[in-house]
Amino acid sequence: MFTNVQYNIFMLKAPSWFENSPCVGQDRLFFSSELKERNEAKKVCLNECANREECLSMALTQKLSIGVWGGKTGPELKRLQEAV
Ligand code: SF4
Repeated sequence: MFTNVQYNIFMLKAPSWFENSPCVGQDRLFFSSELKERNEAKKVCLNECANREECLSMALTQKLSIGVWGGKTGPELKRLQEAV
């Protein structure tokens, strides 16, 4: 699980475009263990975020696989990372 400490460390070095993204402050939704909530997080990415492509690229580059990034869940990100 992505802990609050890990999330806070990520936020310290997050790219500038991330700072105003609609997921900021919603880590309970984006890192939920509930599939229903993770699907809600994906909707935020897909419908409300102008940075989705950059975010997905960052998630793949940094091999992020916990939480929702760029409109993809952790398992979806892992499959994409393994396909590269
Ligand atoms: S794509 Fe999703 S996780 Fe990435 S910055 Fe946008 S809202 Fe946040």
